[in-house]
Amino acid sequence: MSVVDRIPLYPLAPALFVLAVIGFVLLMARHLRVFAVAQPAPVGDRPGWFTSMFKYTILQVRMFRDLDAGLMHATIFWGFVILTVGTADRVTFGLIEHIVRPLLDGWLWRLLMLSQNMFVLGVLVMVGYALFRRLVWRYPRRTTLSRDALVILFLIGGVVLSEWFAEGFRIAAYGDPDAGWAVMALPLSYVLKGVLPAQVLGTWYALFFWANVALVSFFLVYLPHSKHLHIVTAFFNAALRKMQPRGELPQIDLEAADARFGVKTVADLSWKDLLDGFTCTECGRCQEACPAWATGKPLNPKTLIMGIREMSVEAEAGVPLIPWIKPGGGTAIHGTDKPIVDTAIPYDAVWDCVTCGACVEACPVLIEHVDKIVGLRRSLVLEDARFPEELTASFNNLERYSNIWGQPQSTRLDWAKGLPFEVPTAASVVETGGPDAVADLECLYWVGCAASFDDRNRRVARAVVSCLNAAGVKYAVLGQEESCTGDPARRMGNDYVFQMLAMANVETLNRYKPKQLITACPHCFNSLGNEYGQLGGHYDVVHHSQYLARLVEVGRLRVDARREGSVTLHDSCYLTRYNGVIGETREVLKAVPGLELREMDKNGKQTFCCGAGGGRMWMEEKRGSRINAERTNQALATGADAVATACPFCLVMMRDGVADSGARGEGVAVQDIAEIFAAGLPAPGANGRSLPVVQ
Ligand code: SF4
Ligand code: SF4
Repeated sequence: MSVVDRIPLYPLAPALFVLAVIGFVLLMARHLRVFAVAQPAPVGDRPGWFTSMFKYTILQVRMFRDLDAGLMHATIFWGFVILTVGTADRVTFGLIEHIVRPLLDGWLWRLLMLSQNMFVLGVLVMVGYALFRRLVWRYPRRTTLSRDALVILFLIGGVVLSEWFAEGFRIAAYGDPDAGWAVMALPLSYVLKGVLPAQVLGTWYALFFWANVALVSFFLVYLPHSKHLHIVTAFFNAALRKMQPRGELPQIDLEAADARFGVKTVADLSWKDLLDGFTCTECGRCQEACPAWATGKPLNPKTLIMGIREMSVEAEAGVPLIPWIKPGGGTAIHGTDKPIVDTAIPYDAVWDCVTCGACVEACPVLIEHVDKIVGLRRSLVLEDARFPEELTASFNNLERYSNIWGQPQSTRLDWAKGLPFEVPTAASVVETGGPDAVADLECLYWVGCAASFDDRNRRVARAVVSCLNAAGVKYAVLGQEESCTGDPARRMGNDYVFQMLAMANVETLNRYKPKQLITACPHCFNSLGNEYGQLGGHYDVVHHSQYLARLVEVGRLRVDARREGSVTLHDSCYLTRYNGVIGETREVLKAVPGLELREMDKNGKQTFCCGAGGGRMWMEEKRGSRINAERTNQALATGADAVATACPFCLVMMRDGVADSGARGEGVAVQDIAEIFAAGLPAPGANGRSLPVVQ
């Protein structure tokens, strides 16, 4: 007679478990019926889907950015998985033991016992630590004390304790030839034998056996409506993650007969957006990283995702659990027509987003917040004409003048006036060299609207061409043929204006066929490189930091004059976080002799926005404190005498931040990396055109 056969009512254990599995499947199927009426999401080719799944769910690499939370999460997750092998064995009439024990002369079974016992200790310690973080420490990322999280922690603790005690009583009552490997259960069995009469040990074993099976069965049925469903959905979310560049917003077809302009209700979300909702662990990392939340604004990326999940669950409320109970009720989904704005996210919060992507970068389970927020803006702008009033002027300027400053195109090249050398335009190059002459140039410098019309940024354009000229680069600019890339319109939700401007630019660029585009604006860089492909524009685009660093590397450009002092670099979100350009900006600064680079705590992909992205540059910052003031504080804390930027909007925001910072900012210069570099260029003619060509 095997040990489990001594358990009263033992055959009911598998039956209970099977009932729980059926409950789990039905509850999941009800979620999926809402998914079925959601919008499609691209699945397509997914190179690297397995690596992504392995990296973010098995190894949980992003979790470990916060070491103690990472250790806690990984121990509980892996411990729970390994320990439920014991439950699986119990509900399959000992099938797992029957298969595994004979393998490798019993060693595999012994190792399994050892690891299960070690995880008992690990999981109990980590569950205790998790409870301490929530109940005593009140960890700052947690804005709410979730009852669901407590239920799950007590359930996990209960499953592990019941497993441990069941094993302890089993060994105490019946013995086990491999008990020496049960490093937690064996000592417990000695204690139990010491304090309890031998005849009750078997009864207690049966009680803990049943407690374990019942708790795991309850866990299964509870899981579909818990945030801990992420232990299932995270695998799918990682495998089905966005494959396009992170900076590429989804395309919308403005001509389609049944076109939906953006996201208004749950029905406008894609099934992947709903999957994101069911994958949120409520860890609060996105909230912690969000500059809008950090400066006291109503936007919280975490509550947006949780709100979407709640709306999806609400929508399925009328759907019967068992489809055939109510004829016709199996597929009918009601309640997907409630607006997301003012339900899952306040209206103001939609406009507080700077689209910096810090939330996406922080999320351990690869949830995409920005595309959803811009989707909401699209619906507000294109369908409801409901947007902050200051955007009316921005949209009008973009439509009428092809730039958000509302300046005439005829002044686009004014920044080049007074330079000691000529700045050639593509039109003039074609006029003298023929239709393909631009394609023979090394690059086309995309100046951008900020450097064309904003006085402060015009100096950056002059610095960039001074460097190109000093290196003898054959280049041209578009001059009056250049329009805004449309990036601000797109991030503000106006894809109509974006597409209008982008199509005009694509037509111009495709006519000239430049070998390479360089730009000092990360927003133009992102749009031209990642988004113009949607409209037939495929270009090799580099940021000026990359181009200058390469010119220095191949010896075509150098700085002669020393600049004694220190500088801190403010990384642009659209350059570093969205496009991974991190080292080159630093290389340009390091090429200046005497200049010491002092990093801020939040740098590279963990940078903190200046407050200008997502069209916020043209909106009033009415709620909370100023984002640029917060970033300026971080920059000034380094004690550097200058702040370097690599983006025209960052330059303006940091300049204003330093100007408003009072005595602390006195004497602190804010300059683009090209200005810092160009200030020390050798005298004209010191670099010759015979030097190697940049690849
Ligand atoms: S993109 Fe930036 S501002 Fe917007 S929600 Fe995410 S972290 Fe907050
Ligand atoms: S969206 Fe991601 S980062 Fe934010 S709370 Fe959910 S899991 Fe955490």
